[in-house]
Amino acid sequence: MAADIVLRGGAVVDATGGRRADVLVHDGVVTAVDGDLEAPASALVLDAGGCVVAPGLVDLHAHLRQPGREEAETVESGSRAAALGGYTALVAMPNTDPPIDSAAVVREVLELGAGACCDVRVAGAITKGRRGEELAPMGEMAALGVRIFTDDGNGVQDARLMRRAFEYSSALGVLLAQHCEDDELAEGGHMHEGEWSSRLGIPGIPVEAEAMMVARDVALAELTGAPVHFLHLSTAMAIAMVRAAKAADLPVTAEATPHHFTLTDEAVASYDPLFKVNPPLRPRADIDAVKAALADGTIDAIATDHAPHPQEAKELPFDQAPPGMLGLETALALAIDELDLPLERVLALLSWQPAHIAGLAGQHGGPIAEGAAANLCVIDADARWVVEPERLASRSRNTPYAGRKLTGKVRHTVLRGEPVVVDGEAQR
Ligand SMILES: [Zn+2]
Repeated sequence: MAADIVLRGGAVVDATGGRRADVLVHDGVVTAVDGDLEAPASALVLDAGGCVVAPGLVDLHAHLRQPGREEAETVESGSRAAALGGYTALVAMPNTDPPIDSAAVVREVLELGAGACCDVRVAGAITKGRRGEELAPMGEMAALGVRIFTDDGNGVQDARLMRRAFEYSSALGVLLAQHCEDDELAEGGHMHEGEWSSRLGIPGIPVEAEAMMVARDVALAELTGAPVHFLHLSTAMAIAMVRAAKAADLPVTAEATPHHFTLTDEAVASYDPLFKVNPPLRPRADIDAVKAALADGTIDAIATDHAPHPQEAKELPFDQAPPGMLGLETALALAIDELDLPLERVLALLSWQPAHIAGLAGQHGGPIAEGAAANLCVIDADARWVVEPERLASRSRNTPYAGRKLTGKVRHTVLRGEPVVVDGEAQR
């Protein structure tokens, strides 16, 4: 049995509001939340003075690269990065090698996650090999607890196949998540199509490549009655469609990444592949639309799309480098810094709302009350720090934020009642 933990001196913030309280954890469960707790003498005291004690963050979208691309990341290293970023749960995307498109590979990744610093959940592929040709055995994966299915990295192009996937997902009670990109419209593009792509002479991806698939899937969700989750939305056009779908009470949820509310396509002027990502960085008007959608509830969650790549891959010329950037260790601070939202709203977007979408409510995302699972993070919202790529826990270094000054840092993370991060240091 794990030692008792007391989180001392912080302000508890969860979906029910905020209050000054200590939190006592015993055997994986919160056993008391009170103003001035008597803790057993043997308890490990974690100082939360000046900090917010929150439910652990939940990432709907992380690429852990295992199996197959262990030089970029492993389940272990990615989970450590997650814990340092305040996450207690994440959903590992299935575009691994082999892809997570069968019970055998689901089982393999879940086993790799068993001793990790973070509760590793797995998304299964919608189609075999993520090839978009025939449905993967979603039922056998759902039987192992898979709750989200996606071909992320690509969208499912065939509308008829996607309709059948919706029908299966509805029967299985699982959620389809779409990477919205029309392959034919996006073909050959390496950045956002607009003023900067013209100036730089880099082929562009038009906003319509995202918006057209959102429109199609909103229609299919309405046709089948099955819910859909839109991954990493980046355009004002697609966001307007989601806003209209929600107004019509359709079962639609959406996420946005920190880079899509932080960086513009102008960053690509450096030709540095660190700024290559899919969907691409967009102009200021789209960034403003993402921020407005996070503020008004059109977008439900902030997801990292943490996408590690080894140094040599990101040293290729822009048009040859793979898209993607690290995200797990910077998401919280970027949300605090860049969004003009109270911390409680930021935490809703990073913790309890994504927990609900992932089917993890009850285990993650709070509220922090007697009897709740002890998946918690302690945040010093005023701590200033500088992003130093070499100090990140990820195996990769492809952060676009090197040298950036951020505010807000995770002090402690508690996973199932165990301290996995203490004073900003990983314990495993
Ligand atoms: Zn994607």
